[in-house]
Amino acid sequence: MKKIAVLGAGAMGHGIAYVSAMAGYEVWVRDIDQKFLDKALANIQKMLEKAVTKGKMKEEKAKEVLGRLHFTLDMKEAVEGAELVIEAVPEILDLKKKVFEEVQQHASPECIFATNTSGLSITEIAGVTDRPEKFMGLHFFNPVPVMQLVEVIRGEKTADSTIEYGVNFVKSIGKTPVVVKKDVEGFIVNRCLVPYLALAIDDVGRGVATKEEIDATMKFTYAFPMGPIELGDFVGLDILYYGGEQWSLVPNADILKERIEKKELGMKTGKGFYDWSKGRPEIPKELAGKYDALRLIAPMVNIAAGLIEMGVASAEEVDLAMKLGTNMPKGPCELGDEAGLDVVVKKLEELYEEKKLDVLKPVELLKKMVSEGKLGKKSGEGFYNYRGEEAAFKNLIIEKDEENRIAKIVLNRPHRLNALSFELLDEIELALKKLAKDDDVRVVIFTGAGDKSFSAGFDLQEALADPSTLKPANSAMVSARGQEVFTAIEKFPKPVIAAINGYAFGGGCELTLACDFRIMSRAGKIGLTEAAIGLIPGWGGTQRMAKLVGMAKAKELILLAKRITADEAEAIGLVNKSVDPDNFWDEVMSLAKALAEMPPITLRVAKYAINYGYELPVEAGQAIEAAYFGIATSTEDVMEGVRAFFERRKPEFKGR
Ligand code: NAD
Repeated sequence: MKKIAVLGAGAMGHGIAYVSAMAGYEVWVRDIDQKFLDKALANIQKMLEKAVTKGKMKEEKAKEVLGRLHFTLDMKEAVEGAELVIEAVPEILDLKKKVFEEVQQHASPECIFATNTSGLSITEIAGVTDRPEKFMGLHFFNPVPVMQLVEVIRGEKTADSTIEYGVNFVKSIGKTPVVVKKDVEGFIVNRCLVPYLALAIDDVGRGVATKEEIDATMKFTYAFPMGPIELGDFVGLDILYYGGEQWSLVPNADILKERIEKKELGMKTGKGFYDWSKGRPEIPKELAGKYDALRLIAPMVNIAAGLIEMGVASAEEVDLAMKLGTNMPKGPCELGDEAGLDVVVKKLEELYEEKKLDVLKPVELLKKMVSEGKLGKKSGEGFYNYRGEEAAFKNLIIEKDEENRIAKIVLNRPHRLNALSFELLDEIELALKKLAKDDDVRVVIFTGAGDKSFSAGFDLQEALADPSTLKPANSAMVSARGQEVFTAIEKFPKPVIAAINGYAFGGGCELTLACDFRIMSRAGKIGLTEAAIGLIPGWGGTQRMAKLVGMAKAKELILLAKRITADEAEAIGLVNKSVDPDNFWDEVMSLAKALAEMPPITLRVAKYAINYGYELPVEAGQAIEAAYFGIATSTEDVMEGVRAFFERRKPEFKGR
């Protein structure tokens, strides 16, 4: 069993310990006072109990996880024999240095060191150790069990093998790594996010707009989960202020200093820019659009371009990190491409005139892109390429297993629980077209990125950002579009499996209904949940569900917006099989492999005969069956099948 040590049992440390123990590591947690260890254990027990009560985890598994967690005040006991030490003590440089000096007295020479610092220099902390090449940043996000991203940060002397270890470790605990290739202030996420918040606060201070106007615009026009002023309050104004003092990017605005002096630090003190004493502030929707959002977006694009220019990360990596680390619906490079990079540069020049901050000076890369005519979406190229097929996939990933002739379409919006946006629907349609033509693929599997969700359904946040989406005329279009794309799954000439790895609600459930097979993990739940918010299933759900499980059950599910477990879904025939999370992929792949070995044309016509004949009177359905039977019997594969049967060998079907 692999042993790791987590130093500090606070907000971050206990979360890191929990996710690591869940993934099968023996975890030793060290703190300096028993009361912190007791609190960490109590928090972890609470999370496990919740998972068991909700049926997401078996009791034995929860016990196993607890059995892998060890709490100690003794550094030697924690660190001895560990292959990795993750430090999560308070953000004080000297303290972190002192901790690592102590760690290396007990750690084995092979042991890898990592710090969870949010903003200190990795290189500097590594410098006090005897192994800067085995030292890196592993920057988790709060709350650790929920947030998908971990930044893996390279210090000046970090070896490639250490980064590789870090990436594999992060994957092994079910999180998504983004490598930060240079040790820059704020790494990726905080470097983009903190100036965005600070500039918004500065605009309030300058009277450019009110806090409500700024927040409403980012929240309702751009579909950010929170506006920047509200987010500042949520994170804690002291933490923002500390960032401003520490980093050179944006100095602290006077109105922020005033809040700090008054000890109004945001949500945690009940008051910051907003009053939090009665809960989350109400941001009036009608103020959306009353602020020029480009004043915040352009600087974020500039910082992102700076990161690319310095070789810290690619546009894709910056966007992925921002989406997973902040739940923004789009990354800064995508936003820049949409706004137009020429427009971004012009806005930056104006802002620089006004505020004279270096972070507002357009970086060379941006100016170069504009001079080369790479202006973003409108010119066909910007940070991303919008020409041709390769341009298409930003919201899904196609993974091909050539050996087994299987392709996975991974819905890849984990920051939105893989909710279906219009862009994602377009991409699904295109992916299906591509895979239909691809002779090396015989079976397609739909699944969701991350370990939580298959798809949480229609992306309501995106829809509500433009309230007209749900007006009758437009909503008929919304419905028609989803129906069209899901019907393409039904018409797809190869078998399609829905590998339901987590929640499948609303439109996500409807997607699975259009597939030929549904295998569901016991970690998930499924349901046509639309009625809970006053909608009804609009992407074929009312029709397909009734055909699958019968009218009575379909009405029960739809009218009560029920969310049922995998076992319940199997019992009513909604899914083919309910499987434990640990065997889930074995089960899915064994079905896919079995299908991939069958004669492709035969499967195609059998699928069509069932799907198209289903509705018809038996006579008409049988006529369709007869026509498809004719096709099947005219293939070379049928000859091969018959021959192999008599020769008592496994047939080799060619799809001809
Ligand atoms: P915290 O104050 O909640 O926890 C720190 C814990 O470390 C405390 O329990 C403290 O008793 C313990 N500690 C102090 N000295 C120690 C020592 N010598 N050995 C072992 N334990 C010791 O802090 P936190 O929010 O968990 O932050 C920890 C680190 O993670 C910081 O570097 C912070 O910047 C970073 N971080 C925090 C967040 C966040 O949102 N809280 C997010 C990302 C990164």
